[in-house]
Amino acid sequence: MQFSTIPDHTEVKEKLTDLVNNNRLSHALLFLGKEGSGALPMAIAFAQYILCERNQGSGKEAPPSLFIEEAASTPLAWTDSCGVCTTCIKANQLIHPDLHFSYPAIKRDSRHDKVLSTDYAAAWREYIVENPFGNVGDWLDFLKSNTKLKIENPANKQGNITVHECEDILRKFSLKAFENKYKILIMWMPEYLGPMGNKLLKLIEEPPPDTLFIFVAEDESSILPTILSRTQLIKIPLFDHNTICESLVKMDNVDEVKAAQIATLSEGNMREALQLLKHSEEDWHDLLKSWLNVSYKNSVITLLPLLDELNKLGREKQKQFLKYFIHITRQAILLDYVQDAESSQIPTKEIELALNINKFCGLEAKEAVIDEMEKSIYYIERNAHAKMLFHALTIRLHYIFKDKSLILVQ
Ligand SMILES: [Zn+2]
Repeated sequence: MQFSTIPDHTEVKEKLTDLVNNNRLSHALLFLGKEGSGALPMAIAFAQYILCERNQGSGKEAPPSLFIEEAASTPLAWTDSCGVCTTCIKANQLIHPDLHFSYPAIKRDSRHDKVLSTDYAAAWREYIVENPFGNVGDWLDFLKSNTKLKIENPANKQGNITVHECEDILRKFSLKAFENKYKILIMWMPEYLGPMGNKLLKLIEEPPPDTLFIFVAEDESSILPTILSRTQLIKIPLFDHNTICESLVKMDNVDEVKAAQIATLSEGNMREALQLLKHSEEDWHDLLKSWLNVSYKNSVITLLPLLDELNKLGREKQKQFLKYFIHITRQAILLDYVQDAESSQIPTKEIELALNINKFCGLEAKEAVIDEMEKSIYYIERNAHAKMLFHALTIRLHYIFKDKSLILVQ
């Protein structure tokens, strides 16, 4: 993976290449970026940049040292890996023997006691090439739904970076690099590392020469503090609106109006934008209208089939649906402040639904609705029972709505 395959993020790329070019690299980095910010592809592109043969001298001279404690040698001036040398080709296919990955994995069956990331190496390569912006839920779903892996009881399995995995890392890094001067570990989601992750501290504190550890995380507060304090922080921001628009137009030939709508909904999260694009044929409008009516009337007869329908959507679409509701509620808030809905640039279908919400929701109620939806998305991501969640949510919506006027959504 090259830097050029990641849209924009120019400042981060410059910062990273500057670290290398000015020998200011430390041995442990923390790439911290929210879901959909591209922190993982950035780490992979950076690893390839370091490993690339072009960055290691012509072969006639010793490769330069990149690390902070060693005196500056020939500075590197490239802004990206070459993409064509043998090393780049291997790194690009994620098969370079000096580029190691560690990520949450699940126990296959009762016969396998030791859970290692490399047990799923082939699946990982397949997954990352297709979903560089995916989150850990996507990855674990990908494993669980892969029948070739024969995972026992997949629904109940939780992802982990295990003590055995830590021991495996210690073993790998006690060996010399195979082909390259450098040896790199990318650990994705160190949030899944329990206290046994402290086994890695000595390795991080006293790293063998020419080794680099890149931790790629979304949530700083869930990382072991001992690891956090020993890493150099590289923040990866979310993408800006135009970058998402341009990427969608370029990648999938999406028309500009649709790309702009998706970019607004995705709020800088590339994963979200790609998911929205994938499900953009889904029209949530009618389903939301039915749900609003059912919530308002609190009618059990119409509620049950609707709960079945919501349940069948599956986790990803349930989240998209709730996000659509948040989006419409925000449009409703916006409409409270504009004189004339026509000039608001909101699509007609959304105006109709938003105006209906305004008939029975004041500002406080709309804020309460958004709050409930955001909490529910959080619970769905953590495998909440969908039917129970939507049932409880319907009741709460009824309470939010019921003090208001009696006008129903038509
Ligand atoms: Zn190269």
